[in-house]
Amino acid sequence: MRAPVLAYIGLGANLGAPVAALQNALAALAALPQCTLLRHSALYGSTPVDSSGPDYVNAVAELSTTLTAPALLQALQQLEQGAGRERPYRNAPRTLDLDLLLFGGATIHSPTLTVPHPRMRERAFVLLPLAELLPAHFNAADLAAVQGQSIWRMAG
Ligand code: AMP
Repeated sequence: MRAPVLAYIGLGANLGAPVAALQNALAALAALPQCTLLRHSALYGSTPVDSSGPDYVNAVAELSTTLTAPALLQALQQLEQGAGRERPYRNAPRTLDLDLLLFGGATIHSPTLTVPHPRMRERAFVLLPLAELLPAHFNAADLAAVQGQSIWRMAG
């Protein structure tokens, strides 16, 4: 058995019932084999960046997993498909988007997987919920870099 690794997953949805989609996705992450859902951030609302349609609901989940990073990505893609995600065009609105943000301290550059996620420091909707779980990982300059982006912490 591999040693468990802490993995951070970015969740986003902006179609249908996005709050329910994220709650279902958190339950599905908790039920993944070889994974334990340890914590998750609050839910955040955000206006679309490089995308379109209604506002997004976003969160970040912290998993402990003995899966490899490619196996975890595959599991995430199966959950996206199970949530009825269609890909009519790049950055189209989506029912559920799951990104692998961090996988322990690993740096991965494969044709299908880049970790740390290449855009995670540019996007408030990833950085703020991730910083809620990992405050020491980000400094004031990181937070200032996304300050102009429209994002709000949702109640509950
Ligand atoms: P997206 O449209 O954001 O869901 O992008 C999905 C594509 O990005 C898939 O083809 C993945 O193989 C690729 N990808 C590369 N790195 C990552 C990552 N860290 N997390 C999720 N998808 C990734």
